[in-house]
Amino acid sequence: MQFNVAQLLKESLGAQREHHLNEDFDSLEETGTNRVSGDLRFLRTDEGIWVYGVLDSNATSVCVRCLEPYEHVIRLKVDDVWYPLADINTGAKLKVPDEDAFIINAHHELDLTEAVRQYAVTSVPMKPLCKPDCPGICPSCGTSLKYEQCTCSRLQSDPRWGPLLDLLVKQQR
Ligand SMILES: [Zn+2]
Ligand SMILES: [Zn+2]
Repeated sequence: MQFNVAQLLKESLGAQREHHLNEDFDSLEETGTNRVSGDLRFLRTDEGIWVYGVLDSNATSVCVRCLEPYEHVIRLKVDDVWYPLADINTGAKLKVPDEDAFIINAHHELDLTEAVRQYAVTSVPMKPLCKPDCPGICPSCGTSLKYEQCTCSRLQSDPRWGPLLDLLVKQQR
């Protein structure tokens, strides 16, 4: 996800480019994200290049109920400035505001990878669910209720078993 922005850096403030992305790349460790698509606008500012737009991407999360990984779509809102390390005309070293800032390297290449990684990490749900009604795992026997029922879950869900369950509980005391 590299763009050579030498030409855009040479242009006057406010100059812009539109980039259509549809890219596959090595999957990111935390989210398994390995493709993005969408439109980004690159705008020359006095500080560097402001990149904004929305990307659709993928992520793999582990469902909090059934504990299985599943793939889902995430939406990445790109809105950041990339700062050049070197002045495009003189080659002089430039200061970047802080060490976490996104940078345009000395070859005038703007790399989106790290930004996509950060956006992806913050876009995945805190409590991922493979589907809204995922039945999860039976707390008693560990059966994954997505695929099969177990006796304990049937006992709990059928009110007719209520009196018998009460009896069993009493006997155990
Ligand atoms: Zn699930
Ligand atoms: Zn069970």
